[in-house]
Amino acid sequence: MHRIVVWILICIVSIGALYAFESARVPCRSPLGYGIGQFDGRFDITPDEFRMALAEAEEPWERALGRELFQYRDKALFPVNLIFDERQQRTIDGKNLEDELADVTAMQTSIREKYAAAADTLSARRKEYDAMLARFEQDLERYNRRVADWNGSDRTDEDELEWLRKEERRLDRTSAELETLRGKVNALVAIVNRYAKEEEKVVDRYNAEVETFAETYGTGEAFDQGVYDGQGIDIYQFDDREHLVMVLTHELGHALGLEHVANPKSIMYPVLGEQDLGELALSAEDRAALEAVCSVTVIDLLVRDARQAWLGLF
Ligand SMILES: [Zn+2]
Repeated sequence: MHRIVVWILICIVSIGALYAFESARVPCRSPLGYGIGQFDGRFDITPDEFRMALAEAEEPWERALGRELFQYRDKALFPVNLIFDERQQRTIDGKNLEDELADVTAMQTSIREKYAAAADTLSARRKEYDAMLARFEQDLERYNRRVADWNGSDRTDEDELEWLRKEERRLDRTSAELETLRGKVNALVAIVNRYAKEEEKVVDRYNAEVETFAETYGTGEAFDQGVYDGQGIDIYQFDDREHLVMVLTHELGHALGLEHVANPKSIMYPVLGEQDLGELALSAEDRAALEAVCSVTVIDLLVRDARQAWLGLF
């Protein structure tokens, strides 16, 4: 009789201990305490902003279950690291290249406008010059004709002599004006050519930078922005704040125990791209995965362990 009581007590204590042990393994039961581990200042973000982004990344998961799943702690065993390598460097260089492209485009527009204005003026001046030259040539021909007539005459017509003298002076003046106008036309041609060359130079400079970028990084292969390794989360790359929150939300999902899902709009889709970064929300697939992971009970774990142990016997 006494022995039975002892055995019952041993059983109760064992089951209780097992239950307590297994409880700690039940997903989503107690919040995951995380902290900021490595933090590289080369990212365009402050530690406070990073923490805020993490708080935002917790939200979709916690809202779905209506309870706290993550908790920020100053000293935490689960670190979220911000690690700088060529992935973020590439992002920064890519952004600089984009800025450069915007500058080049603005410069090109400005140069083209100046070019167009100069070309318009040139064409107007050229027309003016051509018309003036045509008139001058006609007048010169007439003058030469009348000089020839004068030379062949008895040279007594005072009025004709007066006209010839006046016309000679006028033609000299017109010739000088034509020379000035020709100079202006040539100067305009030089300006128009300079603008064309300037534009070429700006485009060449940009193309050289694109080439350097391509040589440094190759043609954009895919890479992981973040990694969950079971012990913590490493973040390697993000374009901007919204993108960072998305990457963190995805990795926190893994930290809860979620696997990837098939809908490209889901947070847990393996590739980031089609999700709505501005309006981050769980898809039906994300929600189902979360519920499946978080509905696991101690009994489920015990049954699973027992089944594995049983299968292991064979
Ligand atoms: Zn993933």
